[in-house]
Amino acid sequence: MKRITPDLIGWYRLHKRDLPWRRTSDPYRIWLSEIILQQTRVEQGLPFYERFCTLFPTVEQLAGASEREVLKVWQGLGYYSRARNLHEAAQMITGKHKGIFPQTYEEIRALKGVGEYTAAAVASIAFGLPYAVVDGNVKRFITRLYGIESPVDDAGVRRKIRSIVHQLLDKDHPGEFNQAMMEYGARVCVPLNPDCPRCIFQLSCLAFRKNKTVTIPVKSKQKFKKERFFHYLLMLISHNGIPCVVLNQRRNNDIWKNLYDFPLVEHTGWLTERGLFNTSLFSETSPMRGGKIIRMPGEWMQMLTHQIIRARFYYGRFSGTNAALHEIVPLIRLADYPVPVMISRFLSAPGIPFTDEIL
Ligand code: SF4
Repeated sequence: MKRITPDLIGWYRLHKRDLPWRRTSDPYRIWLSEIILQQTRVEQGLPFYERFCTLFPTVEQLAGASEREVLKVWQGLGYYSRARNLHEAAQMITGKHKGIFPQTYEEIRALKGVGEYTAAAVASIAFGLPYAVVDGNVKRFITRLYGIESPVDDAGVRRKIRSIVHQLLDKDHPGEFNQAMMEYGARVCVPLNPDCPRCIFQLSCLAFRKNKTVTIPVKSKQKFKKERFFHYLLMLISHNGIPCVVLNQRRNNDIWKNLYDFPLVEHTGWLTERGLFNTSLFSETSPMRGGKIIRMPGEWMQMLTHQIIRARFYYGRFSGTNAALHEIVPLIRLADYPVPVMISRFLSAPGIPFTDEIL
């Protein structure tokens, strides 16, 4: 096991992918890449990283953008709290830190949205500080290498993995070591079908020797995913002669916070059109009452970590809406608004009735 660190770094120097955040020493860009890559594959995150660097090349420019602009650029990447926190942290850096990126682990960790993992990654990669990163790739690689058969999300196992990685950490090249660990887990010791035949650690890997690479890492039982039923209403309104649609900004502490969707009725199952009219969205005082709604074909679904969102869409023409609750947006400006992936898939599907004959 003594050879793990030098062998791993040797492998990394030969095989690492040429990625834009590996060509910079700018802590802002390294931090940006780490936030984007949380729960996200490199191939998926790369275009988002490039778009952010183009639109917000400095932390000042990110801090000076509106939250809506930031969420719009983030649209499609999921876990939107990352974008809101990124924006807030950029404002912390330009405000409290006067535009200078914090240079200690504790100060980096105190930025909004930065946990132990991201703080260790930024501190080690941007500033050469000796902090070990433990992400999903590292956990998988270490549990297999050391043959750890207890559930990987147990607190005791997490501590054990952290301690092993800390002992392995190359204190002279912590950033390179951390990136090598993550790269190895992402490219060789992958979740399904790890590339054991070509793995340089095959002889010492306990999971391989015990023929347990399929069962390690062991996961706790999957938690039950809650199913939610969304009935979305596309309210089409002619406002001052301009075709408009009504949007709703999701302000509650729920999924997709601060993103936009349509007026919504959520229920424990599907409602009929009559059932929908009996909900508060169509209450006596609402100017929406009296409209006629038509269900659009199809059902839409989005799987989140702990929830399954199912949606049906209805449309109708209405004389008005409750302006205090909703925003009336010209149809030609709809694309400026950050929306959940499910809504953007719906909007780009063929046959959506945003046509002159409806308005
Ligand atoms: Fe992972 Fe296989 Fe290498 Fe073990 S031998 S570290 S399971 S790739």
